[in-house]
Amino acid sequence: MNFGNGVAIISHNVIPRYEMMNASLRVLFCVALLSVSIHSHGKFRNGHESRLRHAQDSLPILRQQLATSKGLSLYEKQRLKSRIAELKRVVIYHELTRDLLDRLKVISPGLYYEMNDLRDRRGRPTDIYVRLIPKQSSRVPFAAASILSNTGIDRDAPTSEHGTHSVAVDLWISERALLMLSHELGHLSYIVPNLAHYSEFYRKHYRNSRNLSRIGHLSTDNSGQCARDFEKRYVTDYRTYAKQFGRPPSILSTHARVRRELRDRPPSTPAPAPWYELPDITTNR
Ligand SMILES: [Zn+2]
Repeated sequence: MNFGNGVAIISHNVIPRYEMMNASLRVLFCVALLSVSIHSHGKFRNGHESRLRHAQDSLPILRQQLATSKGLSLYEKQRLKSRIAELKRVVIYHELTRDLLDRLKVISPGLYYEMNDLRDRRGRPTDIYVRLIPKQSSRVPFAAASILSNTGIDRDAPTSEHGTHSVAVDLWISERALLMLSHELGHLSYIVPNLAHYSEFYRKHYRNSRNLSRIGHLSTDNSGQCARDFEKRYVTDYRTYAKQFGRPPSILSTHARVRRELRDRPPSTPAPAPWYELPDITTNR
């Protein structure tokens, strides 16, 4: 694990699979260095966004192919079905992530808008790419993780696979996802404006750490304190919201609803090149 020239992982719920994590980090390190882009306005972004359009465009075409093509071999049919299933997952996870960000905005608007204007030490806006994903698709063995690095050229600029001036947050689909998101946002609220300094701290204290639950939460780690503070803020906001409006629907029931809706009303917008023929930058599916 190597923050200064690689990737930072800040864990929430940790599963002790250290070897797997090291392999993941090597992949992420390469990905982070490969993609560079600059956004003029930092804000929350849906980490599935880049794949959604292709999925929406390609789904009806592939479904039609499957329904009308005659003479397809069993292998070809199965291949089509597996492409369709993959595309459906993109639509479902995008919708769930959108729903999660909407929940945060409604339940804890102060926290949402504060992080929607996250800036690095030089005042440059930083995008936060959030993805809700199933555990089996996770690239790191954590139920929640913030993933970022900095470059040797600009040590204040957060970088992720989405480009410079961005960070990535991956969350497993669960009822606790919003709480975990608030925790990760707390880490980022400290790390992003203090990136160069924190990367040194990270390298010094966590580089060779085999105790994954410790990462981000050493007693002298300010990001860990911010993570706890953000969690508390979210819990307070949640209670206030629930008292006034009742509990929001469960995330897992929303998951089921989105799956049902996609089955009953498939998306049907026009469409260019299918994404599945392009290299998979996450390499974890
Ligand atoms: Zn943490």
